[in-house]
Amino acid sequence: MIQKMKGTYDITRDIGFYLEIEKAIRKVSRLYNVEEIRTPHFESRELFHRSVGENSDIVTKETYDFEDRGGRVNTLRPEGTAGIVRALIENKLYADPRTPIKRYYVGSMFRYERPQKGRFREFRQFGAESFGSKHPSQDAEMIDYAMNILRALKLKNVRVHINSLGGEASKKTYKEALKAHLEPHLDTLCQECQTRYETNPLRILDCKKDKDKEAIKTAPRTLDYLTKEDAAHFEALKSYLEAMKVDYKVDHSLVRGLDYYTHTVFELQVSEDLLGQQNAICGGGRYDTLVEDLDGPPTPAVGFAFGLERLIVALKENGFEPLSPSLHTYFIIMGDTARVKAMSLMHRLRTGGITCDADFTERSMKAQFKQSAHQNARFVVIIGEDEVANGTVNLKDQREGIETSVPMNALYGTLMERLTRNTNAGCKDCKEKGES
Ligand code: AMP
Repeated sequence: MIQKMKGTYDITRDIGFYLEIEKAIRKVSRLYNVEEIRTPHFESRELFHRSVGENSDIVTKETYDFEDRGGRVNTLRPEGTAGIVRALIENKLYADPRTPIKRYYVGSMFRYERPQKGRFREFRQFGAESFGSKHPSQDAEMIDYAMNILRALKLKNVRVHINSLGGEASKKTYKEALKAHLEPHLDTLCQECQTRYETNPLRILDCKKDKDKEAIKTAPRTLDYLTKEDAAHFEALKSYLEAMKVDYKVDHSLVRGLDYYTHTVFELQVSEDLLGQQNAICGGGRYDTLVEDLDGPPTPAVGFAFGLERLIVALKENGFEPLSPSLHTYFIIMGDTARVKAMSLMHRLRTGGITCDADFTERSMKAQFKQSAHQNARFVVIIGEDEVANGTVNLKDQREGIETSVPMNALYGTLMERLTRNTNAGCKDCKEKGES
């Protein structure tokens, strides 16, 4: 039997979680005036080399690259930002008079990583980007937006961790100071960090293996190397977060793995008991030079990305239960003439927003009753030759335990009246129908 590829999974039982999360994303994004964008799942390999960085973990060992039949080198997107920046430039979205340009996306990302709890080779991210503002209030708004998604999903105990790397000048002096500090301790670091020392020294700071080592604990802090202007940006960010009552923790070890970050970096973390070391459910930051690096006009930007799988684990631990949509009506059909009538009635009900299903295999009446119980339908409609002759159906309200004969042309009205009867009290059926 052919099995799924390592690190992938089928979404079967958890589909309700994805739907609820997507609903929250769309609702909250609207509040922040952020529109959706959909970009391709594969891009040219060069895009990721130039954006995520030649020396990042993603590009050196995690991308899925393939040559197509035309000899082009493609890469399955390992993250969402690069494709959106490419789309911004290629479609000249930056010329939109409504600025900043704010877009969100939801979709699969692909990384060739060692699969473990909360880490997959195909995983889903929700992310958002804002282009055109270098103001710290924009960083703060994005953090508040990310937190509001979690609030909409009632996820508790989330901490916002923030740090600043500063602009290019601050980053450069900091990198030199960090290297000077680490040099005498290099042999105490893991093999990977010894390579990172040359290629991507900042990444050593968020290495999970080395995080408790003395050399890391005593490392210089990025905040001490910020230029005056960069430090003011960070201070302003903190004051905006305070104004919006977003609790945050300044985390000196936070540098984030991608090369393109400048100034603010942040993560939303849940407690380690929930997700172990993979407890960051959202990561983001400012990337003021990326658009220009990819040949676009100078455009400051800030964004974030959530890992949906990790978010779902956290939601489950928090006792979040997606609404399971139950069926309004199940039709029990006896005979061919009744089936023609039933098909017509179901069409009418569905057109009016009532969910229906029926047996499509000519099972016995007993088997159809059993099926209606499996489907957990609120109403059962029984229709046989006698009912067709009388122009009626037999309607059973499973919840109230009432059985009545209803004229066919009054079925829709009767069902609708029963389903919306307690609308103001917020009955379960009405909620399922999206009414409150
Ligand atoms: P990154 O794009 O690496 O900044 O990651 C952003 C978020 O995506 C992380 O906080 C995770 O929640 C999630 N994520 C990253 N890599 C994976 C993976 N391999 N499997 C599942 N989720 C991931």
